[in-house]
Amino acid sequence: MTKEEKNTPKRRVTRRVKVGTVAIGGGAPVTVQSMLNTRTTDIDGCVRQIEELSDAGCDLIRLAVPDEASAEAFGKIAKATGKPLIADIHYSCKLAHLAIAGGAKKIRMNPGNMHNAEEIRELARRMADEGIPVRVGVNGGSRDPKFDGKGECEALVESALECANVFESCNMHDIVVAVKASDVRTMIAANRALAAACDYPLHLGVTEAGTLRSGLVKSALGIGILLEEGIGDTVRISLSDSPVEEVLACKTLLRSLGLKQDCVEVVSCPTCARTEIDVERLALAVERATAHVRLPLKISVMGCPLNGIGEGKHSNLGIAGGKERSVIMRDGEIVTTVDTNMLMPLFMSMLDEYIADYSKNH
Ligand code: SF4
Repeated sequence: MTKEEKNTPKRRVTRRVKVGTVAIGGGAPVTVQSMLNTRTTDIDGCVRQIEELSDAGCDLIRLAVPDEASAEAFGKIAKATGKPLIADIHYSCKLAHLAIAGGAKKIRMNPGNMHNAEEIRELARRMADEGIPVRVGVNGGSRDPKFDGKGECEALVESALECANVFESCNMHDIVVAVKASDVRTMIAANRALAAACDYPLHLGVTEAGTLRSGLVKSALGIGILLEEGIGDTVRISLSDSPVEEVLACKTLLRSLGLKQDCVEVVSCPTCARTEIDVERLALAVERATAHVRLPLKISVMGCPLNGIGEGKHSNLGIAGGKERSVIMRDGEIVTTVDTNMLMPLFMSMLDEYIADYSKNH
């Protein structure tokens, strides 16, 4: 066990829910989720984006099913990709039935807009029979108004648990719960309360978190604080940006908390008056080149030898940039000094070599 693994927070004990072959909760690794932003009726576009997200390291992918044409397309997409896809359902149990018939491995439903208890019970019985789990997903912006008299945090939790109870009453126990709010502190408080009240695995996210910058900051705060307390079994960082960015951000967050080892950490300096190379361009290129790599590597890209050599000592591969000559380090040792004009292609080929060697030896 590494020092980092020893320091990871003790995880909350939950029941385990299986989404196809992917486990959520019950001691399983925290999973990364995202949602397609292509139209579900655009079958080719969806299949392409599912491949991109899977390559980037997304464990579970959700598609909106807003109408019957989308439900029909969902079935074709599920068949084409073979991935455990989640159908996102609002308003209509009928659409959930169609998505299950098309191969959905989990249904996400919003109790704020699905009120027919008998229809929900009928759906729950079918899901129990077919082993399809549900995510009861309550959002601050779309929760049931009947809880309006309560505080926001209490309303989110009660709404989620009331819906979960309907499923439980039908002998359907494969339940994941999410209570999301765009206000970070409300989201944290609601999840703490939920975690204390049940043993359901929790899906964490800050809803409507915003564009790249504000979405990353809010999500890292809300999700990160809860994960550090041991709360949370699956995560989505919602961004008004590419879903691939959501996946990469989730991986970075999990890796930063010691909850994920199978991805590359790229360390780069903020640059300053001493900077001698284009740190941003090189760091972005390294991130792009390693986004699909499932190895616990650390790579440092530093703009000068001042801190570059020291940081490189703790990395699998490192660069300390110089105006004319740059240093490349491997496993803490300086292995070569190269003409800075040739740094990028040389480093990239050394990176490929390192990944190949590491994969062979581990
Ligand atoms: S590593 Fe060098 S260039 Fe980068 S911020 Fe530190 S001192 Fe500046």
